[in-house]
Parts: sequence; C-alpha cells; structure tokens
Amino acid sequence: MKKSHLISQPENHQNLQTQNTISNHELLADLEQKSRSLEPSQKELEELFRKTEAYAKQHLDNVCDTPAYVTSDDRSIGLLSSPITEMGISLDEVLQQLYDHVDHEGLNSGSPRYLGYIPSGGIVHSAFGDFLAAIGGRYAGIFHSSPGAVRMENMLIRWMAGVVGYPKGSGGYLSSGGSIANLSAIIIAREAHGLRGADYDRAVIYMTEHTHHCVDKALRIAGMGSSIRRRVAEDGRCRMSAEALEKTIAADKASGLEPWLIVGSAGTTNTGTVDPLSDIASIARSNNLWFHVDGAYGAFFALCPEGKDILNGMNQSDSLVLDPHKTLFLPFGSGALLVRDQELMGPAHGGRGAYMIDMDSDAHELSPAYVSPELTKHFRGLRMWLPLKLLGVAPFRAALSEKIYLARYAYERLNTMNGIQVGPYPDLSIVTYRYVPKKGDANEFNRSLVRNLHKDGRVFMTSTQIGSTVVMRMAIGSFRTHLQDIDESLEILQNQIKQLDNC
Ligand SMILES: *Cc1c(COP(=O)(O)O)cnc(C)c1O
Repeated sequence: MKKSHLISQPENHQNLQTQNTISNHELLADLEQKSRSLEPSQKELEELFRKTEAYAKQHLDNVCDTPAYVTSDDRSIGLLSSPITEMGISLDEVLQQLYDHVDHEGLNSGSPRYLGYIPSGGIVHSAFGDFLAAIGGRYAGIFHSSPGAVRMENMLIRWMAGVVGYPKGSGGYLSSGGSIANLSAIIIAREAHGLRGADYDRAVIYMTEHTHHCVDKALRIAGMGSSIRRRVAEDGRCRMSAEALEKTIAADKASGLEPWLIVGSAGTTNTGTVDPLSDIASIARSNNLWFHVDGAYGAFFALCPEGKDILNGMNQSDSLVLDPHKTLFLPFGSGALLVRDQELMGPAHGGRGAYMIDMDSDAHELSPAYVSPELTKHFRGLRMWLPLKLLGVAPFRAALSEKIYLARYAYERLNTMNGIQVGPYPDLSIVTYRYVPKKGDANEFNRSLVRNLHKDGRVFMTSTQIGSTVVMRMAIGSFRTHLQDIDESLEILQNQIKQLDNC
C-alpha cells in the first residue's frame, strides 16, 4: 500500500529515504558512538567538577591581589594559535588557555580597585545560579514550558517594581543588559505614542549631553535615526534643567514638531548625577510625553536610604531601566526593563508562530517571550533569585549605602589634596576631579595621568570630558571595594601625580 505523506514528495525520493535508514544500522551505531561523547562519562564529569572547581577557587583566591588592569604586547593573540579543530584537547590544556589568554589580560572587573566606567558585579553566588540554570535547562520564555522559571522571572520583576516604587499593573522583563532594555523602552514608547514612519523626522526626544550613548544607538536601531535629539541645557551640576526642558518643548510644539519622549538619567555614567526626576515627570505629564528613566547605573540605589531621596520621582516615569549586573553586583549579562503599564509592552513585542499554538492553554503569568525581543533565552532569573534568596536583601542594601559613603569619603579626601579640583559633590557613587598642575596644560596632564595609572594597573580609573575639560572619574561600585581599597587607590593616585608633576 502506498504510504501517504503530509506534504507530497517525489516517489523515488521517498523510497530511497526509507531503504537507507533501515539498512544503515552500522552507520547509525558509528554515529551514535561518536555523538555520545557529548555526554561526559562519570569519570569525565568528575574531572570537570574537580578541575573547574580548582580553577575557580584559585581565581577567587587571587582576584583581589591581581592588578585591576593588565595589558601585554601580544594582546591575547596566543588564543588564536589553537584553532577549533575536529578533535578536542584535554581539560588541562583548555583551562591553561583560558588562564593564559583570557582571564589575565585586560580589565579585572572583579578587583576591589576597579573604579572605571561603571564597575560590574560578579558575586559568586550568581555563578552557581547560572550553572544550575544551564544544568537544569529550563526554558524561561513561556509559562507553559516552565511555569517555575517564568514565575521566578516575574517575581523578580515585581520585586524590582517594588524597590523603585512602581504601581501594581506594571510589568517588565530581564534583559541581557541596559542597552537592550533601553532599546525596548524606546520601541514601546514609540508604539504607545502611535508614531509612524512618516512622523519620525518630526519626532523630538529630550535628553542631556550626559545621557548614555546607548539611547542614541537605540533610536538608530529602532529606525528612528532621523528623529530630532535635543540636548537640554544643564544646571551647573550636570543635571537636566527642568526650566530649559519646559522651554524647549514649548518652542518645538510652536514650530510644529512632535515632542514625544523625555529620557531622564537616574545616575549618569559620566558623572553619576541624577536628573530632577520629579520635576521632569510633571513636565512630561502636562505635555503628554513619555517619560523614560535610564537607571542602568543608579536605580538600585533606591534600596538604600541615602539613594532613595535623591531618586525621588523615578517612580513617576513610564518606563525604567535597571542593570542588575551593575548595582545589584551580578555578573555581566543582566539588565531589566520595567514598564508602568504592562499592557503597553505587547504591541511592541508580542507575536506568536503557528508552532506555538499549544503553549497558551494554561498561562497563569505573562510570558517573557510576549513582552520582550527574545524567544529562546538564557534563564537569567536564577542568577538573580539564588543570591537574593540565599543572602536576603540586607547585604545588598548595606553595600549600596557603603558605596555612597565611600564616594563621599573619596570626595572629601580628594578635596584636601594639593592641586586637585573636585567636581560636584557626588549624588551617588561617582566622584569627578582633576589635577591642575602649576604649569602646563591641565587637560594634557590628566590625559597623561590616566595613561600612567593604566600602565601601573594596580588601580583602574578612567577619564572623561565635560565640555572641553578633561576630568578623572572614580566610579565606586564593586561589591569588593571597601575603605582600605579607596585609601590605597588614593595613595597610588597621589604618587602618580607626584611623579608626573616632577618630570
Ligand atoms: C551601562 C549603562 C547603560 C548601558 O547598559 P549595558 O548594560 O552596558 O548595555 C545605559 N545607561 C547607563 C546610565 C549605563 O550606566
């Protein structure tokens, strides 16, 4: 009898296929034997546990004492002399390559003297969460697939909503980082505002000179590269001037443009300053604009009393980005988006394929796949849930208060140092300053200073520019940074200044 197929195939093709698979037991046995090495034997598994554990322990034993920055002449090129090949190499060799070419060159973001950019986290507990997530292999995109994983993610979203003061009815998702979360926010805001392609040239976005560059990048990725970006004037402390904002919006409206979005910063990357969020919120409301807050660096400071006050007004925004991989001290790869009205996420991110029809039958919780760009995704919730459950929130609160007090301490000590000019008093945990030499160009001096500090490597600080002035930054954000590390870093800084000023 002729066998029927779902989709008709040519007669001979069908016969060939059937014959081949039935007579090819030998081939299958061979392929099975080879592919079975994808599953480690008991012995191999034990070796994997033992040796990676030893590697990890050694890394943790040394992470505080290894320099914050290391650069070599070959810039890790050695890695490429061992290409990907048909046959594998031993675990010892693999770990040696990781040690030689990856884990000991560049920035050591685990160092307590890593004070550059925005320090990331890397609490060890998260690594175990990642490990268990990968071992368990739960799919966290859709409720039906793993109710537990989805409940966990949504529980963390609700916890963060509580931390920042968002109301019931808000939603969000865990992203890979702040850039993607900002991109999502912009697209959600665009759809909520009903903007269409023809409107983009007239659509106006308000931000400041210090708004993170990923916002501009997101606009371009969103196809809105032609929209109008207003860099609103700042007060003397690098914060958006509410007065200037109001005037700029009025002028834009009067000239027939389409004001649409205000991006406020809850802690700029550049100087750590917080925009007047409450004032901006009321301007956004009265002008019917979307108010987005980029809190990738600063929003988690709402966990501690010292941060909460200054972030006042953040909870009045329409959307908000946080980066657990910064100020919740998680390893790289954890961002979050919160949206005040959860319902607005779907129009921008919803979508289902025909192959997903079995999935919606028993949804008790919103599925991340329907409110975010990703379908299959890393089970990110576990790396955040595990440390929060294990340690409780208290040590995170304490660490954030500690960072704020350390920044104030560093500011005060810098302020007493000869030749140092400090920037504004820190809103959160970034201190800006510069050294003004008795003779010569101050910008040039500070550029050289940062180069010399990098060459030394014991402490890692970066520079930036405010207007045409080169300033140094000290970004205090690692969970490992404590008083002694700030003292050591300031001592190294002073010595480097002395050496440079004498030559
Ligand atoms: C780090 C940062 C971003 C970008 O987030 P990523 O996680 O690096 O993608 C955006 N905004 C601010 C204020 C940041 O500090």
